[in-house]
Amino acid sequence: MYANQPGHIDLIRQVNAGIVYRLIDCYGPVSRIELSRLSLLAPASITKIIRDMLEARLVRECALTDAGLRGRPATGLVLDCDSWQFLVLRMTGRFLQMTLRDLSGREVVSARQSLPDDPATSLPDYFSEVIGDFFSRNHALTERLTAITLLLPGIIHAASGTVHRIPYYDAKDIPLGQILHRRTGLTIYVQQDVKASLLAEHYFGAARGSGDIIQLVAGRQIEAAVISSGRLLHKDSTTQAEIGHTVMAAGGHRCECGHYGCLNTLAGSGPLTERWQQAWTASGHTALPEADIPGLCHAALSGHLPSQAIIRDCGQQMGHALAMLVNLFNPEYILIDSALNSAAEILYPALYSAIKNESVASRRDLLIIRPASFSPADTRPGTALIKDALYSGELLLQLLQG
Ligand SMILES: [Zn+2]
Repeated sequence: MYANQPGHIDLIRQVNAGIVYRLIDCYGPVSRIELSRLSLLAPASITKIIRDMLEARLVRECALTDAGLRGRPATGLVLDCDSWQFLVLRMTGRFLQMTLRDLSGREVVSARQSLPDDPATSLPDYFSEVIGDFFSRNHALTERLTAITLLLPGIIHAASGTVHRIPYYDAKDIPLGQILHRRTGLTIYVQQDVKASLLAEHYFGAARGSGDIIQLVAGRQIEAAVISSGRLLHKDSTTQAEIGHTVMAAGGHRCECGHYGCLNTLAGSGPLTERWQQAWTASGHTALPEADIPGLCHAALSGHLPSQAIIRDCGQQMGHALAMLVNLFNPEYILIDSALNSAAEILYPALYSAIKNESVASRRDLLIIRPASFSPADTRPGTALIKDALYSGELLLQLLQG
C-alpha cells in the first residue's frame, strides 16, 4: 500500500474503526450496544466511531426488527457500500483488465485492452494514461473513489508498492505505488496476483472463512501462496513460496534457476505438453490435437492411457511438494488454480495419495482439495485487498479523514 502514513495517535483510532467496520460487515444490521459488547469498546467510543462513519457514508442506519422488544424499534447499522468505489487493474497474459467496483465488490463498469508490446514501456506512464482514460470515459458512473489496486505478476514489494521485476517488461525496482499516488492523489495498492487471489479465496471464495489455506497455481511455473492462522504469508514483502524450485529429481533437467530437476521441470505446462506430444505420437496417433494442457486433459478424459499417466505423475510430483507444505502449515484447504482442473478426477486422487503417504499433519485425512474460484483475468481479488485494508482500518482512516 502506498499512501500518506498515519501518526501514532491515529493508529488506535484506525484499529478500533477497523474492528467496528468488520463487525458491522459480519453481523449487520447490528445495534450500537451489541457492537460495544462484541468489540469490548466503550459505548462512548462506539458512538463516536459510528458518527464519523455515518458522516463519511460508510455505514447507514436501519430499523432492527426484534419482535421481543417493546417501545420504539432499536436502530441497527449496516454498511453503506454504494457511496464509495475503487478501481482494480489486473495484468493477465498480454492484457490489462480494469473494473470499477463499489465497496461491496459489485461491478460498476469494466474494460479490457492489450498491453503495450514494447518491453521498454514506462509502466508509471502507461498506468497513469490508462487510469486517466478510464475515468474520462466513465465519468458519469464514478462516485467517490477510495483507492486503486494493481494486481501484477512478478516480484512485488506490496508494503512500498514497488515493482522489482515483472514478466515481459524491462522495468526494475519501480516505485509504482508511490508515483501513481503522487499523480492521482489516491491510495494505491500493488500486490502480486497470486497472493491477492488467495486473499479473495479466504474472504469470499472457495475457502471462505478458513484461516489455513494453501493455493497452488500450476501453469508455466508452479507457484504457491499460503494463509496460516488467518494471516497471508509474506503479504507485504517480496518473498514468495517458491515451491516450483523445489528439487524433486536430482540430476533431472536444468531449470531456469540454475538447479536440476526442479518441480517446474516436471510439472510446468511446457514439460507436460512436451511429454504428451511424445506419448501421443508413440501411441500411434498421427494428427496431434491442440498441443496444450486443455488438449492433454481432453485426451486423458477420452481414455488415452498415456495421457492419464502423465497427469497422474504430475499430480504425484506436485503432491510430494505439497506434502512438505502440509507438514509445515497443516491446512484445511488446498486450492488448485490450473488448466489441469478439467482433469480433476485424475489429478486430485494422485495429489491426495502423495499427501496422505508423505505427511503427518493432523488435518491430513480431512484435507479438502478443490479448484480455486478466480480465473487469471478476474479482478475480484482486488476487492479482497480493499476489504483487508478496511478491516485493518488503514484505508478506513483515510476515508474518515476525507
Ligand atoms: Zn528451479
